[in-house]
Amino acid sequence: MNNGKICVSVCAETADELIEQIKHAEDLADIIEIRFDCLDKSELSIFDDKKRYEFYKKLPATKKSYLTTFRPKEQGGSREITREERDHFWNSGYETEWADCEEDIIEDSFYWLWKERICSYHDFDGVPDDLIEIYERLKATNADVVKIAVRAYDITDTISLWKLLERWKSERESLKAKKLKEIEELNRKLSALKNTVSPPDTFLRIIPIAMGESGKWTRILGLAHGAFMTYASLDSGSETAPGQVSARDLREVYRAKELDETTEVYGILGGSTGVSLSPYMHNAAFRYHNLNAVFVPLQAHDLNAFMRRMVKPATREIELNFRGFSVTIPHKRSIIEHLDYLDETARKIGAVNTVKIEGGKLYGYNTDAEGFLAPLLDSYGDLTNTRVAVLGAGGAARACVYALQTAGARPTVFARDLTKARSLADDFQVELKELPKTENRKPKTLFTDFDILVNTTPLGMKGKFENETPATADELAGLQLVYDLVYTPFQTRLMAEADKAEVPKIGGLAMLVAQGAAQQKIWTNLEAPVREMSRAALERLR
Ligand code: NAP
Repeated sequence: MNNGKICVSVCAETADELIEQIKHAEDLADIIEIRFDCLDKSELSIFDDKKRYEFYKKLPATKKSYLTTFRPKEQGGSREITREERDHFWNSGYETEWADCEEDIIEDSFYWLWKERICSYHDFDGVPDDLIEIYERLKATNADVVKIAVRAYDITDTISLWKLLERWKSERESLKAKKLKEIEELNRKLSALKNTVSPPDTFLRIIPIAMGESGKWTRILGLAHGAFMTYASLDSGSETAPGQVSARDLREVYRAKELDETTEVYGILGGSTGVSLSPYMHNAAFRYHNLNAVFVPLQAHDLNAFMRRMVKPATREIELNFRGFSVTIPHKRSIIEHLDYLDETARKIGAVNTVKIEGGKLYGYNTDAEGFLAPLLDSYGDLTNTRVAVLGAGGAARACVYALQTAGARPTVFARDLTKARSLADDFQVELKELPKTENRKPKTLFTDFDILVNTTPLGMKGKFENETPATADELAGLQLVYDLVYTPFQTRLMAEADKAEVPKIGGLAMLVAQGAAQQKIWTNLEAPVREMSRAALERLR
């Protein structure tokens, strides 16, 4: 458990909408930030004190604290606001407990009348080189809290911000020690008068935020490392800044307020982590076992820089207590050179989807093959001599072919680009066939010699491929089973084609959960709560 707070930002154009949002935020927030800059000008009559007072009276009474923000567009606010409007706003006595003011307005306002004051700095384009000077400047305003929000495009962009949090922490510790000494001295003098004073319990606080998907982990782990507050959106889809996590996810999925500096940190390490189901699945498992562990998105484009600057004990610049990763596209093969140990299955497949970190050493495994096979054996049974058409020749196909061979099946790989697929065929000594576009296949007999069809291409996946299928119903007729690795959407176009052909099917979610359960076993040595993991992934998917 930590002392941090979750602040839910509400942002609406009309007072009525705003009030609805506030009511909705109440259960989730410790502090509710009212983004006055979101309100339409006509709703918030800045220069009409009476009207504005009327507006203010409409705000629902709440046990939570309100935070006032009125940010101009150039500093990340939602509309153009003139200096005159800002001056008037900050000098006309709104009375919420908290105020968040930008640096440039502080000296000219009655900001000091607010009980608790945040002085904030935002950079939506990157991370400034002079972060420390900015911090010192904000500190010099004598605000109660300094907020610095910068934009991270890659995960290592977050390092300087995190170092700032560490700097603040050590400053606070030495200041506390100094104050304590002064107080002790004073109490010694006062003892003759039988009087004592207590040390102050408030020091400058800090809110460091790295915006963007690559910075999301700072929003989740910040509170555990001393950050005063983290900002959350009301719902997924109503974010007021890039990379914001919903308040419900922060509380219930990531348990951000329950984490501390000893929390074991795991994460999904990939080039695009925004829509991953893994945090839902793995955090459900950690919660089930009541472990002090969390699973966060770690979006890294430059894997080498991430491993060097944030992971490897000899070279890392910050300490995050990383214990393991789920590795995904495009790092499954390139991670291998960073490992101290490679498991035999991962070596044979030539890809790693699981890293465990223990005693400073990195161990690589591949649970995709096991995850792929478990639901297949459940639905099909013995695979000996079963003829399987594997569509696609990427990372997932390698794991599937390996798994099928170990189970005694006879896989054939179908790929659109035979040259690219050659290494897979050679490595596993399997037959390779061309996969022409569906519309170019005549007659429709490509899969007539097979028992099972497995799709490992992204065709059918949410986004640009959603309406596509690697095979049509007339081509599937006669097969015993169709297995689609794609899991978003839950029911893919290929699965609909299988229904049409009356062929049994398995969707990708079963494999996702099974490979995740095997990862849990590697990381925690405990039996994974498969039902909870599956439910969490499914709920998110829906
Ligand atoms: P990958 O390494 O990028 O391989 C994708 C393969 O599909 C490549 O052979 C690629 O061919 C082929 N492909 C791409 N677009 C195609 C198209 N339009 N038509 C025909 N073939 C096409 O990706 P991966 O890691 O193997 O993942 C593939 C899919 O499996 C993804 O949808 C992923 O989400 C899913 N997956 C699911 C699980 C699970 O647990 N359910 C686990 C792993 C992967 P080229 O080389 O010619 O581009």
